Amino acid sequence: MNNNYKIETLAIHAGQEPDPTTGAIMSPIYQTSTYVQMDIGENQGYIYSRVDNPTRTALETNLAALEQDNHALAFSSGMAATNNVMSLLHSGDHVVIGDDVYGGTYRLANDILIPNKIEVTFVDLTEPDALQQAICSNTKLVWLETPTNPNLKLADIAAVAEIAHAHNILVAVDNTFASPYLQQPLTLGADIVMHSVTKYLGGHSDVIMGALALNDAELYEKLHLIQYTTGSIPAPQDCWLASRGIKTLALRMERHCQNAMALAQWLSDHPAIERAIYPGLPDHPQHELAKRQMRGFGGMISIIMQGGESAARKLVKKTKLFTLAVSLGGVESLIEVPIGMTHASSADSEIAVNPALVRLSVGIEHINDLQTDLAAALAGL
Ligand SMILES: *Cc1c(COP(=O)(O)O)cnc(C)c1O
Repeated sequence: MNNNYKIETLAIHAGQEPDPTTGAIMSPIYQTSTYVQMDIGENQGYIYSRVDNPTRTALETNLAALEQDNHALAFSSGMAATNNVMSLLHSGDHVVIGDDVYGGTYRLANDILIPNKIEVTFVDLTEPDALQQAICSNTKLVWLETPTNPNLKLADIAAVAEIAHAHNILVAVDNTFASPYLQQPLTLGADIVMHSVTKYLGGHSDVIMGALALNDAELYEKLHLIQYTTGSIPAPQDCWLASRGIKTLALRMERHCQNAMALAQWLSDHPAIERAIYPGLPDHPQHELAKRQMRGFGGMISIIMQGGESAARKLVKKTKLFTLAVSLGGVESLIEVPIGMTHASSADSEIAVNPALVRLSVGIEHINDLQTDLAAALAGL
């Protein structure tokens, strides 16, 4: 595939070649565990599906093209992809993790990494200088999300990468909230991009999957070895579903951004709301960075309720189109209270989410219907 194509075109065609034996335009689902060998050790590139599978290769080729790099690996979940990167660390190593991260990443740090003698420091990476302060002689990795979940803080990926690389530290970016359509961390200097494919890439709330994308061939070999040894692979059927979802990524992201921008503007003036947090609003602390680093501001909005925690808990029960559920990035709109749901794992910690914060995953329904739903639910709160 010609990687000079634009991302809209790559999303549809990269890795998705018609089947050479039948001409089927859709790359088939290779539901197979093993592959016939012509002679001992002589094969057509596939040996066993824990190592590689053609349906997975088709998806991985596509994901690599979307992040404008050479290598991608698909995983059984976003957390499996994250854990695969953390498996590069050994006891005695130190990792810096953004202070506002996915609840599962926080749990991985506290319940797996720290007991395994890996040192962890949570740092607010909106100020790159804070990273400088946190770096120690044994620091091996910086793990960050931008925009963060759920406070939608931004980190300057290029600035973080410059500081980290001066100390030979790898930079991994969880790019789930932005998707490759809105942000391409590797082009800004990051070493590894991680995605929960479950969210915007898959886009239809029908699959759990993760991915890593990167440029360095040696690092790719290490990560692939960890994956095929530990076995955190997605099934062929799921890879096919993710590939199908990705074909409409560009269209979906445009509408997610459009709907979220309109709702954020409207919500920020609503009397029941103390503050609407959205990178596209001019009063967002990193609005200028968002304009520079991202192609659009995304589909996620967080709101702080004027009426505090009780208003937050009431609101999520009153909406009808905005469905109460964890997860995000699907075509349908979702609503949740992070401290009791996605971020329960950090509820008693120094990085606990504001109990009055409600997180919206704005879907691609008609904007008027979404606004009417929120207006009715907010009335009288
Ligand atoms: C969902 C999510 C993950 C974890 O992905 P799974 O596919 O659920 O394992 C990691 N990071 C972010 C930002 C997420 O939203």
